[in-house]
Amino acid sequence: MILHIDMDAFYASVEERDQPELRGKPVIVGGNPKGRGVVAAANYKARSYGIRSAMPASQARRLCPEAIFLAPRIACYAEVSEQIHQIFLNYTPLVEPLSLDEAFLDATGSEKLFGDSEAIGRQIKEEIKAKIHLCASVGIAPNKFVAKVASDLGKPDGFLVVQPEAVQAFLDPLPVRRLWGIGKSGDQILAKKGIRTIHQLRQRPRRLLRECFGLWGEQLWAFAHGRDDRPVIPDHEVKSISNETTFEKDLDDIDLLQSHIVTLTEQVAWRLRRQDLRARTVGLKIRFADFKTITRSHSLPKATHTTQDLLSIAIDLLKTNLKKKQGPIRLLGMAVSHLVPGEIIQGELFINESQQKQQGIDVATDLIKSKYGQSAIKRGGGGA
Ligand SMILES: [Mg+2]
Repeated sequence: MILHIDMDAFYASVEERDQPELRGKPVIVGGNPKGRGVVAAANYKARSYGIRSAMPASQARRLCPEAIFLAPRIACYAEVSEQIHQIFLNYTPLVEPLSLDEAFLDATGSEKLFGDSEAIGRQIKEEIKAKIHLCASVGIAPNKFVAKVASDLGKPDGFLVVQPEAVQAFLDPLPVRRLWGIGKSGDQILAKKGIRTIHQLRQRPRRLLRECFGLWGEQLWAFAHGRDDRPVIPDHEVKSISNETTFEKDLDDIDLLQSHIVTLTEQVAWRLRRQDLRARTVGLKIRFADFKTITRSHSLPKATHTTQDLLSIAIDLLKTNLKKKQGPIRLLGMAVSHLVPGEIIQGELFINESQQKQQGIDVATDLIKSKYGQSAIKRGGGGA
């Protein structure tokens, strides 16, 4: 069985934990009260006003004028994330982090030691609560896709186990939106064809999905049948680091898109530096309103971990691949790959002066961020 463990409203919960006076109030991390940038996280109180992550801050402000906006403290969240990761590792080496606050675990090999996957899930959830004072939702199922749906459905404070024989019965009544990547527009396309639940989707011919969503439809078809054979790949075998956002509303505003790229890149670069890695390749994933998804990448002559280097390539890739005819964008992802350890980089001695300066800026930024929080330093064009 696979476990999906996801912290509830992570950034906002860390802030509430550290500032008890915030409890019970609508809290938004990211964006600013003047309505610039995007919401990085919202606590459950703020969500009750309809506020969601990745929503423009201006819209959030309109929905809840009394919301408290906080600048993200990525360094602090990364530290908490590390502590949670260490708890996972006590139970199994097979931990695949998806972002700072969620991970897949394969604990099959640890059952003799700690009990079955359900017992392991309970122990981890309790340990996170006792040691870190935060709430995690846990989903346990035969594969990644179903485990993720299970942890999501249980939120907040969820704990849901789906046994292999129960997978199809569990999925069937769910709305198609539960399928990975089906957002508002996918929902509408399927609704026009009379398809609202996963069960209804399964009754229709497979080619229908192919016609609606292209190649990606094949993946959807497998998910709808509870099939997903992707293994859990642990951190040290990870060949890339990525981060992506699905927008609540399709976006075509280049400034807003750029500010999303800045946020995505800052997190990816931070994770890269934290693991003392550098990347040779920067990739961008764009899903357009018509569900066509493209990935474009660009390789550098030399590996880097500076935010500025990664950012300028990511923005170039975005600008060259924005096609008017394909309309607005529903999902944006940024990835780095061809990772090499920081120490052994050829030609490092011949680093030029401006590169040295840029690396100095990042080191200083990381230091200041870990001392005073993400808000202390802002890159031009930054979203959150
Ligand atoms: Mg979460």
